[in-house]
Amino acid sequence: MQKLAIQGGKPCCDTTANPWPKWPIWGKEEERALIEVLNSGVWSYNGPKETEFNRLFAEFTGTKYAICTVNGTLTMQLALEAMGIGLGDEVIVPGLTWQATAATVIDVNATPILVDVLEDTWCIDPAAIEKAITPRTKAIIPVHLYGAFAEMDAVMEIAKKHDLYVIEDCAHKHGGEWKGKKAGSIGDVGSFSFQLSKHLTAGEGGSMTTDNPDLAEKLDALRNCGRRPEGDSLIGVDKGIGDYGDDGNFIQSGNLRITEFQAAILVEGLKRLPEQNAIRDANGAYLNGLLKEIPGVAPLKRDARETKKAYFNFAFRYHKQQFKGLPIEKFRSALEAELGIKVDACYEPLNICPLYVPHTKPARHKLNEAYWDAIDPTRFSLPVCERIFKEESVCLHHKILLGNRGDMDLIATAIKKIYDNAESWLLSS
Ligand SMILES: *Cc1c(COP(=O)(O)O)cnc(C)c1O
Repeated sequence: MQKLAIQGGKPCCDTTANPWPKWPIWGKEEERALIEVLNSGVWSYNGPKETEFNRLFAEFTGTKYAICTVNGTLTMQLALEAMGIGLGDEVIVPGLTWQATAATVIDVNATPILVDVLEDTWCIDPAAIEKAITPRTKAIIPVHLYGAFAEMDAVMEIAKKHDLYVIEDCAHKHGGEWKGKKAGSIGDVGSFSFQLSKHLTAGEGGSMTTDNPDLAEKLDALRNCGRRPEGDSLIGVDKGIGDYGDDGNFIQSGNLRITEFQAAILVEGLKRLPEQNAIRDANGAYLNGLLKEIPGVAPLKRDARETKKAYFNFAFRYHKQQFKGLPIEKFRSALEAELGIKVDACYEPLNICPLYVPHTKPARHKLNEAYWDAIDPTRFSLPVCERIFKEESVCLHHKILLGNRGDMDLIATAIKKIYDNAESWLLSS
């Protein structure tokens, strides 16, 4: 039996001779586009690159409008503001997500209601949504997490039945499809992040997609100091719809615009995305097939209604019973040593997440005692989220899925090696 790398044995991957693919990916195209923006002197404010990207991203997501803003957090905050959601309103959010999904709800003075997720996709549990609905519920924010897709048929049905808005948090799902519809085109607004870690990136950035001209007009204004859309800034929006007054701003807001440099990189990145998604999908499917053969690990469920896969990170499930009781932390460290790449747990559930602590900001959030209690994350019980985080989740950066078949074989070999060594390692330590 090969000795584990973490015990001083030879790692499965020789990352000096054969490094993992790098992220982000760029080329001469990005270089040329950035120089073009530089020399144009038009560095921001509804410039040609942003206008082009909005048009291309709307086309890509199959929506009428796509509007850029600074990141994939403010996208959700502006969506909530455009929907008129605020104090006294409740928004249902999955307990397993990046903290921004819930934090934005608090930032519009509404109340996030954290609900549990499904154990085989790690996405929001429709039954838990139903249970959480009250007369104050105004919206649901399903998150398409890692390699999975939220149960959008059920989410949309519940939303329709109770007359709720749906904001899809698509920070992990650029290009993913549910029954032939792109992520971001199913709910009322799609929220995308272009942060460096995401699989379409300009370092930072975000986009809001929608088919609703009224929401689009407000979203465009909200990211631009409240100005009514002008010129080409919002393709296709009928100017002057709604009755928000005449001159000047029709809605209060600040400057949440991106630069032309970011838009230039996004235009080029979007051209690369479909092929990258296809490669990640093929490798993900292949690797999941290999995982099925190893006892104690399991892929996330691929729903047959997910017609196009998009991966942010490659996540799978671990069950220590089959690994002779090897704690998951040890499994992750051992895998990290074999692969020469970071191996993480999933996001911390929001009821125990050290990055989601609204009570640290009383001057802003203590609107009254009842609200203060309502936004306390620890009041929510999220047993499935906690089990996934503490006992089951293993996550690898999505760049590994841009490798070749041999790389996927190595990942499976490394897991099998840990499986084979689990007992002797435990006995010796
Ligand atoms: C990254 C991320 C966000 C926030 O996007 P930023 O651009 O970093 O603000 C929101 N939700 C999820 C699920 C994310 O992964």
